Amino acid sequence: MMAPRTDFPILSAQVGRNPLVYLDNAATTQKPQVVLQALADYYEKVNSNIHRGAHYLSRLSTEQHEQARATVAAFLHAASEREIVFTSGTTAGINLVAQVLALSSRFSAGDEILVTTDAHHSNIVPWQMLCQRVGAVLKPIPLTPELTFDMEAYLRLLSPRTRLVAVPYISNALGVVNPVAQIIKAAKHNSASTLVLVDGAQSTAHMAVNVQALGCDFYVFSGHKVYAPTGTGVLWGRESLLAELPPWLGGGEMIKEVSFSGTTYNDLPFKYEAGTPNIGGNIVLAAALRYVTEQGLAAIDAHEQKLTQRMYSGLQAIGGINILGPAQNRGALLSVVVPGVHHYDLGTLLDQMGIAVRTGHHCCQPLMQYLGISGTTRYSFALYNTEAEVDRALACTERALNMLR
Ligand SMILES: *Cc1c(COP(=O)(O)O)cnc(C)c1O
Repeated sequence: MMAPRTDFPILSAQVGRNPLVYLDNAATTQKPQVVLQALADYYEKVNSNIHRGAHYLSRLSTEQHEQARATVAAFLHAASEREIVFTSGTTAGINLVAQVLALSSRFSAGDEILVTTDAHHSNIVPWQMLCQRVGAVLKPIPLTPELTFDMEAYLRLLSPRTRLVAVPYISNALGVVNPVAQIIKAAKHNSASTLVLVDGAQSTAHMAVNVQALGCDFYVFSGHKVYAPTGTGVLWGRESLLAELPPWLGGGEMIKEVSFSGTTYNDLPFKYEAGTPNIGGNIVLAAALRYVTEQGLAAIDAHEQKLTQRMYSGLQAIGGINILGPAQNRGALLSVVVPGVHHYDLGTLLDQMGIAVRTGHHCCQPLMQYLGISGTTRYSFALYNTEAEVDRALACTERALNMLR
């Protein structure tokens, strides 16, 4: 058992006559009391705009905001706080990278971007938009028959034209852990100027990440999938790259000096943070990361792996359920297809029994097309889930399937 479930007030909710079993953590996690309290504390005691006030509260909020940045930098093992750009989430982070690359001189017609077949729409569409602007080509990296990353196909796809590789650390639709370190190594071997963006939306809450050891160029994640509020997130970028690339959004904070004859930009990371940021949210994101660190990512991972394996063998025992992806080397989620049963029907019956799961394409329509399916039912775990909940979800799944087939 990890953190006490009482840390998370919402977990005591009832769904009709049933206790809530929340297994939709890959969509968003619940928030612990320390995070909720930190947000209330911020607005009750600190609230003020940052970086510009001469007054006490402004100094306090600026100090806490920049302290939060330092916490994020330490959490990701970034080389410097200048590499930490606060965003509103993964989607915003990837779009920021795509926009500044489009404005840079790094792309020209015929260049190529490689993206995994299991990428989230937010890690596909911004690259399609970039390709449209610069005349580049987006190429999907296929999967192996086991639905894992096809390293051989990837090595064949890498070429002198490859400018960028975009990969989710853990697929939100399959749960597969991609061999990110090897992917990055191969990209850098291909060319030092082949950039790699790692989508950490599904990994950050589950495994320790060291962006320097990985050797990627960009790493993005959403706060709301790491026990922090929605509307928070981080783009980590290699400092030399962020320094070289142009800004995107223009406005307050991101400038040094503005005049009608020309404007100079602020230092990193402020160059990429135009306007008033989500000050309270960013401060609280740091509180969430501290909570995760206190629980220990290794302990969280071990606990969640135990739940995932229990769910995996339980689903196998029910029979007639196709669990997508390999049994081992997966994140804390399971995506299933039941022949003859629509995922939405299964999800609806589970909901009536108090079990919250996700059904549908999980923002991975190209993957669904690749698999020739319309969607899956996804069970995803967080540090507060229990073996008893897994057993309940299994019993309810069996009951629902008995009604549906
Ligand atoms: C959730 C998710 C995203 C998008 O995150 P937002 O918080 O909606 O911006 C991107 N990639 C993966 C792998 C995800 O799971």
